[in-house]
Amino acid sequence: MSKPFYKRVLLKLSGEALMGEKGYGIDPNTLNYMAQEVKKAYEADAQIAVVIGGGNIFRGIEAAEQGMERATADYMGMLATVINALALQNALEKIGITTRVQSAIEMRELAEPYIRRKAIRHLEKGRVVIFAAGTGNPYFTTDTAAALRAIEIGADIILKGTKVDGIYSSDPMKDPKAKKFERLTYMDVIRNSLKVMDSTAITLCMDNNLPIVVFSIRKEDSLKKIILGEKIGSIVLREVKDDAGVQEES
Ligand code: UDP
Repeated sequence: MSKPFYKRVLLKLSGEALMGEKGYGIDPNTLNYMAQEVKKAYEADAQIAVVIGGGNIFRGIEAAEQGMERATADYMGMLATVINALALQNALEKIGITTRVQSAIEMRELAEPYIRRKAIRHLEKGRVVIFAAGTGNPYFTTDTAAALRAIEIGADIILKGTKVDGIYSSDPMKDPKAKKFERLTYMDVIRNSLKVMDSTAITLCMDNNLPIVVFSIRKEDSLKKIILGEKIGSIVLREVKDDAGVQEES
C-alpha cells in the first residue's frame, strides 16, 4: 500500500455536511457516505481526528440575533456538535472503524472528556478520534476548535471538507465569475476576507504554520486522495512559490 503523504490529519466537517438535501438535522444516507469517506482515508493508513460542527441543528449566533443570550445560545450550539459527533461515531463503528468521542464539555456518560495526551494515544492505536463540543467556550466556532485541536495533537494539516471544491474569490454558487485559487497564503485569506475559516481560526493556523486544505467532501474519494498526496482543492500556506499574492488556477 502507498504511504500516506499526511500521516496525521484533522478533518473539519461542518454540521451542514450531515444534512444532505434536507435543510436540517442528519440525513442517514449522507451520514453513511461521510463515514465511508473517512474509512477510505483511514485505510490509506493515516491517523484521523475529526472536528464536527453543529450548524445543521443549532447556531448560537443566529439564535442570539433573535434575542437569546449569546453565551447560552453558544452552549446550545456546542451541544448540537455532540449530537453530530455521536451520529458520526455510530456510523463509523457500524462499518468497523474503532472510534473515541472526546468532548470539550464533560459528559462522562456518553463521551470521554478531552484529554490531549489520551487523544494522541488513541490516534497512535489506530482509532479515529472525534472532538465534540467545539472549544468548550462560547464566542468561538468549530473552525477555531479544529485549528486548536489540530495544533494540540500535532496534525500535519487541517482538511476542511465543504460543499464547494476549494476557495473562490466570491461564492461560486452565486457568482458565475468566481475564480478558484489553488494556493494562497494566510495573509491573502485575511486581506481579501475570503471565506475559508473565521479570522480567529485563520490567525491561529498562521501563527502556528498549520496548512489548511479546503476541498469538496461531496466528491467521492477526495479525502483519501489528498491524504495520499494528490493536489485537490485549495491550500492555504505561509508562502506560495512565485509569490505574487493570490494565485489563480489556470
Ligand atoms: N460553538 C461555540 N464554541 C465553540 C464551537 C462552537 O460556542 O468552540 C457553538 C456556536 O454557537 C456555533 C455552534 O456551536 O454556532 C455550532 O458550531 P459551528 O457554527 O462552528 O458549526 P458548523 O458551521 O461547522 O456546522
